[in-house]
Amino acid sequence: MTAKGAKILYIEDDHASRRLVERVLTSRGYEVFVATEGLEGINLAREKRPQLILMDINLPNMDGREITTRLRGLPNFSEIPIVALTANISAGSRELALAAGCTGFMTKPIDVATFTTDVERFLQGKQDKLSADERNQHLEKHAQNLVESLEKKVRELRAANKRLMELDSLKSDFIVLVSHELRTPLTLVSGYSHLLAEQVANKNDLVPAQSIAGIAEGLQAGVGRMQDVINEIISVVRISSGTLDLSLGPVRLTKIMADIEKTYGEICRKRDLKLNVDDFSGLPLIQGDGRRLQAAVEHVVGNAVKYTPDGGEITITGRDMPGKAVDIIISDTGIGIPLEEQRHIFEQFYTLGAIQHHSTSKSAFQGGGLGLGLAIAKGIVEAHNGRIWVESERRDPDALPGSTFHILLPLSPSDEVPSL
Ligand code: ADP
Repeated sequence: MTAKGAKILYIEDDHASRRLVERVLTSRGYEVFVATEGLEGINLAREKRPQLILMDINLPNMDGREITTRLRGLPNFSEIPIVALTANISAGSRELALAAGCTGFMTKPIDVATFTTDVERFLQGKQDKLSADERNQHLEKHAQNLVESLEKKVRELRAANKRLMELDSLKSDFIVLVSHELRTPLTLVSGYSHLLAEQVANKNDLVPAQSIAGIAEGLQAGVGRMQDVINEIISVVRISSGTLDLSLGPVRLTKIMADIEKTYGEICRKRDLKLNVDDFSGLPLIQGDGRRLQAAVEHVVGNAVKYTPDGGEITITGRDMPGKAVDIIISDTGIGIPLEEQRHIFEQFYTLGAIQHHSTSKSAFQGGGLGLGLAIAKGIVEAHNGRIWVESERRDPDALPGSTFHILLPLSPSDEVPSL
């Protein structure tokens, strides 16, 4: 066989090695195809029918020995030269590669001066040999490696399957919650619109303004709640697809806190919750999307309100990390969060506890939620290059250990967030 035009497939995950080998071989007239991992390599081998395959050994997912054994089992690949090309020169690695079905073994980095001559020799039929003993011994080791690798894959697949099933069940819960969350305000809107129609139909005179105002308020509340639900879903979809765009500008935390007090002040008074908001005026301006940051803080404060029983206390403080970041700390005297759940509560659709226990009012103790609030808060904070996390001892609705959430924001999204 002549070198000119021979097709060579190189399976290699390292970009620099791939480029070098490709360049050297192409300049000598070989036609080179490259694949970065095993399955792609096997498909390319089937499609292009190369005359020789150069095989890296340490590859992700499926190593070079596994790929070689697989190729040897395919029609048309029992004889073609497959040459291991590896930086791993530890004892036994050559023998193991040959036992797995490789024709030869070459080391990286390649010697540009001799590389093509070596490749040409394999094309012309050179074969590295093992003694029968060596072969048996390493075949056994190779078989063990294959079984271990299979076992690892089964374990990984099982874990991935479990995770998918959990996600599937979370999504089913989510659909039930969304329907519930939309149906309640819809009933409200429907009730008020009937009332309005009745008032107009029953009275020849004009309906009193006061009555209309009451109806309008009811309609607005229902529509507002439906808008909230839809906005939450849109935000979470944007975050998941990485299309949450920020409109950056200077953000005054005092303004955010004043709005939070306005939103939650009345609710807290009604539920006898003490809302303490620190003076944020000494904290620096940060660069960010004020509207979205406010939404993130609101989700966390909203949860503090939801998961703290009447008579409790919610405190919002700010800590300056001069020149670097601002830490917004929201703590409550609520039911707390179990340690093992603390990682998951920031995932989409994750709501702790049976969904049928969720009451609908967002401000009631353990009131309704879609399990999206913290996922949205996390998405917004991370889009600002910040970090959000929670500290809580345990969940205990009797002892009320409370929870403390941190929202750590760098002064600008282009800054690194400091580690605490
Ligand atoms: P939800 O809409 O269910 O409140 P979130 O994403 O906002 O969804 O929160 C996820 C879960 O985390 C909640 O269901 C709740 O169990 C738990 N959680 C969040 N904040 C608190 C808190 N301050 N105290 C106790 N539990 C909390």
